[in-house]
Amino acid sequence: MNQARAQETAERLNSVNTTVAAAAKAAGRKAQDIAIIAVSKTFDTEAIRPVIEAGHRLFGENRVAEAANKWSALKGQIADIELHLIGPLQTNKVRGAVELFDCIQTLDRPKLARVLAETFAATGLSPKLFIQVNTGSEPQKAGIVPDEADRLVEMCRQEYGLDIEGLMCIPPIYEEPSLHFALLEKIALRNGVAQLSMGMSADFEKAIHFGATCIRLGQAIFGPRA
Ligand SMILES: *Cc1c(COP(=O)(O)O)cnc(C)c1O
Repeated sequence: MNQARAQETAERLNSVNTTVAAAAKAAGRKAQDIAIIAVSKTFDTEAIRPVIEAGHRLFGENRVAEAANKWSALKGQIADIELHLIGPLQTNKVRGAVELFDCIQTLDRPKLARVLAETFAATGLSPKLFIQVNTGSEPQKAGIVPDEADRLVEMCRQEYGLDIEGLMCIPPIYEEPSLHFALLEKIALRNGVAQLSMGMSADFEKAIHFGATCIRLGQAIFGPRA
């Protein structure tokens, strides 16, 4: 990556931080209560470097294999990198995911809860867990449907001894995201779940208004994806 592109990335990151601070203030919240996940999927190590060099440490990836390729070495070099899995997780990839990620945001079914619990026991590792809720009940999308979310949270806690730290959602593309953010907040509140991962490049200010504690930004930081 040339100097100019690295500079642009640093400027976008700066501008995102400013916008988050303003949105937090407008919502009567503190900027430090909103974690910015830099979503580096499809971007290579060279594109990621300027973000690390600017002091950013929190990143998200949506595929286990792609993330392992890019981040195994980087995590070895920079101890305080925090990596979140934000894409669907198959049970045969759980071991790799548990070994690499600090947080798995896409727990969405009982079988995955069971395999995660078994893998935590076998490895002694325990990344943080968020449950993904399919707030729009879209058939093609991962996530537990809202009607079954309470039951899954309960099952994770009671049956598998898993701590559920947050909920995550990806609203339907063509709907007003605010309704989905409000729904996720409601489900979190009634289940005593503290973290809300919601809001992407196009709608993160709204998500902050609805209580997001974790926003996931790809293009707003790295520029357009190919
Ligand atoms: C790609 C992705 C993002 C980031 O999307 P942008 O529009 O680039 O901000 C956020 N969340 C998930 C789950 C993603 O897959």
